[in-house]
Amino acid sequence: MVTVPEGHTIHRLAARHRDLFAGQRIALSSPQGRFAAGAALLSGHTLVDTEAYGKHLLHHYDNGLSLHVHLGLYGRFADGEPPLPAPIGEVRMRMAGATHWMDLRGPAACEVLDPAQVAVLRARLGADPLRDDADPAPSYRKLSASTRPVFALLLDQSIVAGCGLIYANEVLFRAGLAPTTPGREIGPACWDELWEDLRALMKEGVARGRIDTVHTAHTPEAMQRAPRVDRHGGEVYVYRRPGLPCYVCGTAIARGPLAGRNLYWCPTCQPLHRARPAARAPRARRARSSR
Ligand SMILES: [Zn+2]
Repeated sequence: MVTVPEGHTIHRLAARHRDLFAGQRIALSSPQGRFAAGAALLSGHTLVDTEAYGKHLLHHYDNGLSLHVHLGLYGRFADGEPPLPAPIGEVRMRMAGATHWMDLRGPAACEVLDPAQVAVLRARLGADPLRDDADPAPSYRKLSASTRPVFALLLDQSIVAGCGLIYANEVLFRAGLAPTTPGREIGPACWDELWEDLRALMKEGVARGRIDTVHTAHTPEAMQRAPRVDRHGGEVYVYRRPGLPCYVCGTAIARGPLAGRNLYWCPTCQPLHRARPAARAPRARRARSSR
């Protein structure tokens, strides 16, 4: 099962690329040929800085142009020290600086943008919890005006940029919130909690290079259980744990499709919203009508 890298991975890449190449004149090429015209626009120029915005990676050059990469499902970077290896497979883009080379294979997007196009890209993205300049207020206005499930809204990159499947599932578990809760039922305090938790979890993801979401009481050591074995690594509550017991209550973790994505939740810790607010309302009405 392949998943799109989440924002923490892209922020880590931006930091690594800055360390390896910023301030250097870069030789760019496209061994595969598909990015030859773009590479020619940037090659020989100096890489000024890099940044991540959600799942989008930008390399800014001193001629005012920027490289934009979205890895998608299959995109991968590889880097190393000279000598440059012979290009193996479909290398879309190759960068060579003073001390390192880097290859990009299989991205969903690899293109050169001018400043206006970069502005358009940013404008269509929601707040990125990993950016210090993030403003979560517009995100909340969109989310709280929607009847769509909060799970789908967290995955909507125009609302929260960089949040992917694992963080969306896990942050809802940690909030005890049913993933099907409509956005318009999320109050400001609940949104603040979700946003702050996303920020904290994703920052930890950048630092560790893997996604860990369990509280200290639920680590393998604390619970005296075997560590999780999963290609994605990390200790999580619900993601890809269908049928396994919830670490908090023991209920089997449920799985189902929602908004075309895999949703995982604990039916006990995250009761469906209709079982909570909506169940109280009809009882109140029945009580009144019986009097
Ligand atoms: Zn539970």
